[in-house]
Formats: sequence, structure tokens, C-alpha cells
Amino acid sequence: MTTLLMPSPELHTPSLTSAAEKRGSWYEIDVDAIRHNYKQVRGHLPVSVKVFACLKRNGYGCGAGAVAGILSSEGVDGFAVASLLDAVAIRDAGVRLPILLYPGALPVAASTVESLDLTITVSSAEELRQWRAALKKTRAFVKVDLGFFRAGATPQEVCRLLVMANAHADVKVEGIYAHMSELPTTKPSDASDQLGRMQVVLQHARNLGVRPAVAMMSSTEGVLNHPEMDLDAVDPGALFIGLPESDKPVRPVKLRHALKAISTSLIAVKRIDASMGPVPAIPGFEAGMLIGVLGMGWGDGYPRDIPKGSEAIVGGKRVRLLRPAHLEHLRIDLTEVPEARFGDRVVLLGHQGNQVITHDELARLWGTDMVGLYGQLRDHIPRLYTGSHQTNSREDLK
Ligand SMILES: *Cc1c(COP(=O)(O)O)cnc(C)c1O
Repeated sequence: MTTLLMPSPELHTPSLTSAAEKRGSWYEIDVDAIRHNYKQVRGHLPVSVKVFACLKRNGYGCGAGAVAGILSSEGVDGFAVASLLDAVAIRDAGVRLPILLYPGALPVAASTVESLDLTITVSSAEELRQWRAALKKTRAFVKVDLGFFRAGATPQEVCRLLVMANAHADVKVEGIYAHMSELPTTKPSDASDQLGRMQVVLQHARNLGVRPAVAMMSSTEGVLNHPEMDLDAVDPGALFIGLPESDKPVRPVKLRHALKAISTSLIAVKRIDASMGPVPAIPGFEAGMLIGVLGMGWGDGYPRDIPKGSEAIVGGKRVRLLRPAHLEHLRIDLTEVPEARFGDRVVLLGHQGNQVITHDELARLWGTDMVGLYGQLRDHIPRLYTGSHQTNSREDLK
């Protein structure tokens, strides 16, 4: 298919279960939560509105291929990704539904776009010219920038682009879409201004006879809080992974977290003694203390500067993480868990016994929001997909 792209690492492992065993660290992804979130949202949308699930950044760290498989079995209409690697993962999972490529790929990747049967995005005459030169047939969505100051033609330019694209027999414009502004200066009232701009564009396009079949502008924020923006299709992403518990959307959906646990293991347990030399003058280190070493470090997504108050759960008890973090290792203070043994499971997010480290707690500690938390997930950590529909088949685990 393509020789330039690296296949996703799990394709080389017999199964993710054994990959997790070999590694001793894994992310547990809750298949039922993803199904639940999809059903919640689908249930609130008019039946005529299509859902293109945005699975960028490897499905928000949850595995674009696996999440695509789950959503396609629920009846999703298609997908949208920015990276070709995510499109490859979706096709490798055996999913044949339409995939829209957001701005991100270049025409040099035209043969991959063709072999994966992708729909590209075009935001300017120059992009259209270069893509047409590279592709046999160009299937595209035109993107319009309603005030995000990112990719997309300006509302003033976009109809000219639609007319130009429609004049070529080798170009099929399947849709027009926008992404609502998420700038630090964005105000709630900006949403209606942006919808207003979109409506003007669509009316103008209709008058010119170039209004594409699909108009789309609702990501998670729009789907949850602006039903008036549904148009023909929506492309939310973050809502499939869950939301902060504090959120109270206009559409009263109850979402669940797709990431159930970040698990690792004790790869060493040791009582510090004087033969090692003086105890380092670092807060948390004490003479004679019992320390544990975890098989996960900042290279695995934990913040390099371990936030104050960071904890792990081992033996059903919460313990302190000790600074500093290392590339593949973290230390914990095992003073309160003297029974801890080499190989014991340690939870950095999720439940163990009657203790829990919540998503909200971790996001707050890491100084980020829910998407920021999922954005820290690393592709080299094995993902275990669990839930009532789990079949443990090879296909399921891709
Ligand atoms: C990320 C993205 C989305 C989805 O946004 P969420 O907030 O995750 O729902 C939709 N459209 C575009 C163009 C995007 O880049």
C-alpha cells in the first residue's frame, strides 16, 4: 500500500494483551464508554444529521483504528483526521467508511490518499492546483475559516474557490466545513457570529449553484451547546473520550471516560541504606526509606516536572511520587506500603481497591484540561480494550 509510512507498532505484536504483559504498563480503554458516548450524542441529533467522528491524534490517544472499529459498529457515518497515520490506522482496522483529511497532508502523499480512498481538504486556489496535479481525481471538502484564523478560505474568498473547483470535471466537492474558534479571546457570543457567517456563505453558494451537499461546523462544543449549528453533518472528537465532570452542556448528555486506567508496575523495591552514600537533598527522600521504581517515566507521557501532590495507587493505598522523573522511570515513597513487591500493579489513573485517581484530579495536577490529558497519552504504550463486548480477537485488539 505505502512503503513510506510506519505501520502502527501493535501490528507487530501477537496481541495487545501480551504487549501489555511484556511492557508492564498499559492504558485501559473502555469500549463500552465509547459506545455509550456515541449513542448519547446520536440520540440527541436529528436523524438527518450525519456524524463524522474526528479521531485526530490517534483517536485522542485511544487508538484511531480501534475507536473507528467501535464507532463503525455503532453506525457512525465517517471519520475525520489530520494525520495520514491515523487514516492508515483506520483502514488497517478494516474500516471502509469515508475519511475526511483535515489540513495536514501534502500532495506529495497523493498515492497514499488514493490508496486509502480519502477525501482531502482544500482551502485555497493554490492547494486545489497542487492537489489536482497530484491526484487522478480530487474528492474534497472545502474549508472556510469563520474567525479561527487557522486553515480555511476566508468567507469572502470561499465561494470563488467553490466556483473554481466546480469548473473542473476531475474535482468533486463533497462538502464545506468550518471549525469554530477556540482562541483564548473567544467569547460565547462568537458562536452565533460564526454561524451567521456560515449561513451567508451557504446562501451565496446556493445562489451561485455551488452549495455542496454537506455543510458541517459543529465539533464537541457545537454539538453539546449549539444545536442550531447541526446543519447537514457534525464532526466532534473530544466528546467520544468524555468530559470534565463539571461540564453541564445544553444537550443533557452524560459522557463517560474512554480512558479507564493508566497502569504500570513496580520494577524495583528497595530500602535505602547508608552504603549508597548520603541521601540526596531532595524533598521526599529520607534515610532508611522504602522506595519503589515504576516502569513509566516522562518519556511515557508523565509530566517531566512531576507536579506537587502527584500520587500513585499501589496495594490499594495512595502514595507520593518522588521528584525527579526519568525518561522511563518514576519513584514512589513506599513507607506506607511495606508489603509492596516487585511486579505489583501501580495505578496512575483509575481505581485500585477503594482508592481512585480521577481524570479531573490528574488534569488539574498536570495543569491541563481533559483533551490535554488525553493528548499526553503516548502511542508506544499498549492499549487494552475492555468492556462487555470484548472478544479478545486479534481484530478487536488492533
Ligand atoms: C479537532 C477538530 C474537530 C473536533 O474537535 P473537538 O473539540 O475534539 O470535538 C473538528 N473539526 C476540526 C477541523 C478539528 O480540527
